[in-house]
Amino acid sequence: MLDSILGSLRVVALATKTDFRSVTSREVALFEGPLGWGEFSPFLEYSYSESVPWLTSAVEAAFVSPPPALRSEIAVNATLPALDNAQEIEGLLDSYPGCSVIKVKVGTDPVKDLDRLAIIRELRPDATIRIDVNGLWDVEQAASFLNNVGEIEYVEQPCASVEELRELKKRTSIKIVGDEVIRKAKDPFAVDLSDAVDIVMLKVAPLGGITRALEIARHHKLPVVVSSALESAVGISYGLKLASALPSLDFACGLGTGSLLAVDVEQLPINNGMIRVADVRPEVSLLNKLAVSNERLNWWKNRIRMTWDAGAESFINERGWGQ
Ligand SMILES: [Mg+2]
Repeated sequence: MLDSILGSLRVVALATKTDFRSVTSREVALFEGPLGWGEFSPFLEYSYSESVPWLTSAVEAAFVSPPPALRSEIAVNATLPALDNAQEIEGLLDSYPGCSVIKVKVGTDPVKDLDRLAIIRELRPDATIRIDVNGLWDVEQAASFLNNVGEIEYVEQPCASVEELRELKKRTSIKIVGDEVIRKAKDPFAVDLSDAVDIVMLKVAPLGGITRALEIARHHKLPVVVSSALESAVGISYGLKLASALPSLDFACGLGTGSLLAVDVEQLPINNGMIRVADVRPEVSLLNKLAVSNERLNWWKNRIRMTWDAGAESFINERGWGQ
């Protein structure tokens, strides 16, 4: 299987519209299997072992039949990086047609964060707002911000650890979403989320694919929301398949992040705040146009080999995929 992955491997660089997590060009590795395309795109600084679930998810997409789809369209939210300029914010919001839920990155500066939320509320007075802190606050900072934030749908990962989230939960009635606390855990099944988290964030690639993400959701018995990790349309389409397979889905999903890219391998248009669940088969000519240098291609091939050896192969064999 590894030979077939490396044989069809294409690596493209996708420019982003704005700085997102300090990323201005997103490199993603794509390969084709009997069931379609898979995307392997852990952020460049991730270790091989941290990249294992990303590779197993890509392999699952290319080699394993997905579970039945229970819905054909997924409601998505607008995702706003930590922008402070009203015009820039408005420009980006316009690229999410019909999205009534806006997820805003906050956490670095409470004054700027509240200003950003005020700008958004003025531009979109009817929108539902959720915030993502990426674990940057301690309990005290979180409690004080949440006291002043006004009405929001939920806060995603306000503090880094489960213990802090549990402490915070005693001090706020705002719903808490666990993202990194699951996604970065050595064993997402072993994390005790009780009295700490109200909703679980599912990201298909960092959680190792649809099968494992569904198992994690079942295990924690909490409502879920599906999000992306700034992937190309190939990775996003796999997140959409996860969202379409969930027994219940009560929240708009963070799968509209294609709007943060200046260019993509295919378009997954947002209509009335929804994206259709569909297979993505990128055009060869476009893959050629966006291709990285040979040096970068070899870097990714090596990364895949090392990640394969770091645990992807044994996980895939255990599951009996592609046999
Ligand atoms: Mg998050």
